[in-house]
Amino acid sequence: MMINVLNIDGQQLTPCVLDRAWREVNRARAIWINEETIQLLYNPFLYRDYRKTALKRDRYTCLWCGRSGTTVDHIIPSSKGGSDLPRNLLAACMECNTKRGSRSAFSYFRERVFSSPNRMKLLYRILKANYHHQVN
Ligand SMILES: [Zn+2]
Repeated sequence: MMINVLNIDGQQLTPCVLDRAWREVNRARAIWINEETIQLLYNPFLYRDYRKTALKRDRYTCLWCGRSGTTVDHIIPSSKGGSDLPRNLLAACMECNTKRGSRSAFSYFRERVFSSPNRMKLLYRILKANYHHQVN
């Protein structure tokens, strides 16, 4: 069963499978409009740009461990209302992204503090993202 996908402005996007639709809704990135339609709460085209901006800014280096990073990690998780703006994103390797899971960035930071080569930068980013999250 394919689910219709509407963009934030109501524009029709490519339909997706049910699993994918539920995943978007569970991450608070979309809402059900009816049984066969979801509407995204973000612009996926902009998000693609934000991801690229964040990865480039961090030079494709995982801020948690210093290895090559090709995924983005949300400092404030999407499920907790964290934004998709670059300031809430970090370049991360798949392993750190998976290990952290849905834990808070502070909790994972404490665990990694002695092995992160970028700890001051990382702490600054986490504090900044939390600041913006509370202000908005
Ligand atoms: Zn890593």
